[in-house]
Amino acid sequence: MTAQPQDIRQRAYTKIVATVGPASESRERITELVQAGVNVFRLNMAHGGPEEKQPTVDTIRQVSEELNQPVAILADLAGPKIRLGEVADGCIHCERGDEYTFVEGDEPGGPNELTSTYEPLTSELSKGDNVMLADGTVIMRVVDVKPGRVKAVVTQPGDVRSRQGINLPGVKLSAPAISVTDHMHAIWAAKAKVDFVSLSFVRAPDEVKALKDILKSAGSQADVVAKIEKREALDRLEEIVSVSDAVMVARGDLGVEINVAEMPVQQKRIIRVCHRYEKPVIIATQMLESMHESTRPTRAEVTDVANAVLDGADACMLSGETAIGKHPVKAVEMMNSIAHATEDAIPTLLQRDADRDEYATQHDVTRAVVSGAGLMATQLQAKTIVVASHSGGTALALSQHRNLVPTIGVSTKESTLRKMSLYWGVTPLRGAPACDMQQLIRHADEWSRTICGAKRGDKIVIVGGSHLAAGPDGDQMASGVHDVVVVHEVEGE
Ligand code: PEP
Repeated sequence: MTAQPQDIRQRAYTKIVATVGPASESRERITELVQAGVNVFRLNMAHGGPEEKQPTVDTIRQVSEELNQPVAILADLAGPKIRLGEVADGCIHCERGDEYTFVEGDEPGGPNELTSTYEPLTSELSKGDNVMLADGTVIMRVVDVKPGRVKAVVTQPGDVRSRQGINLPGVKLSAPAISVTDHMHAIWAAKAKVDFVSLSFVRAPDEVKALKDILKSAGSQADVVAKIEKREALDRLEEIVSVSDAVMVARGDLGVEINVAEMPVQQKRIIRVCHRYEKPVIIATQMLESMHESTRPTRAEVTDVANAVLDGADACMLSGETAIGKHPVKAVEMMNSIAHATEDAIPTLLQRDADRDEYATQHDVTRAVVSGAGLMATQLQAKTIVVASHSGGTALALSQHRNLVPTIGVSTKESTLRKMSLYWGVTPLRGAPACDMQQLIRHADEWSRTICGAKRGDKIVIVGGSHLAAGPDGDQMASGVHDVVVVHEVEGE
């Protein structure tokens, strides 16, 4: 087993999710991105299906092997995203007061007729509804509804291009949460053994459960990430978070579906609810937007990333910055550097909810053990915590405590190691003897020296599940035994 080459603390504890696209799909670029700090690669299934994405999955897996570093893959299903059809000459300029008519089918009858990818659109709009186009920069208000034809007048002017997204805040859509295409993509994601599958435009907890069922019946153990980007999801937030494995604050669409001024407070609320239910939470979209073009972010963007970290985000996500931007690697380096520079302030700023225990998903013994282990590590100024976790549950519970002690996560299961890629502060490491405490202590001793700079006499804290408590001779000791904590004094030179 060889440890990862770089010092563990060069990496921020906050995880980085990077979207793969034309600017980042080559093997060289993926290697650079992992070295710069990417933990999870996101494949946006709204742009390209399995044929396009499978080679990227293969490349990520190969790079992960070469660098001996677990890296997770997130397949992001498009969900019920509504798009415009073709518009005249690919782009139309909408002036305030101009009238447009949404029609059925995919052939506009004239320059002022608009089509969409959502067949029932004209029957589900009502007079007074707002139709948001071009990421909310253009707004039309519905003024007249006739069978198959909906007339709308431009209230906020701007340019609209073919196939751009349509958002309909407050309109109850009958679109199924998981389309036929999403279903097909989920089956592929299961076969491709991706680690996370996210569902866009979630409105209800049953939609998350339905995706879990599809994945499970296709033999997948992928975790499901609920993207919060609709008012309906905010209205049922607790129910949705409680059934999801992780959550994404998808600010691109959320900032159009609700009043954008309300979004920062909602972001904080979503993070708080995720903490209460001990679910990892990803903050997404426009975090370093100006780095599409520029080599440096704006002050406001730097502050946005830092605030997400301080609010308690487990991960921050890059979208266009790494998919189509000019400086994908620099954007990752910058995100890593901002998070790193911010994290020391977390323990004083991140207040744990008093009622958190009520909703916790991990076993109460596991939670008590990791809480104690974190305190012990801090008090003993331990150089590292090593957490051995079979399913990842103990590592996730430990991560929730936001200890500033470098933490190494080990498991005999490769899929568990990859899931740890999303857990705040946990660096997954391959090759651990995760079922024998004595051997694990020997390895932990070596890692603490090689990647955490520990010296003889320094303390390390090792946390293991019941399988470790039982020891190598069998599991007769395991009955009634949960997790175990060991404090070890580094022995090597
Ligand atoms: C978002 O809306 O912020 C988001 C992450 O989803 P997508 O990129 O699929 O629009």
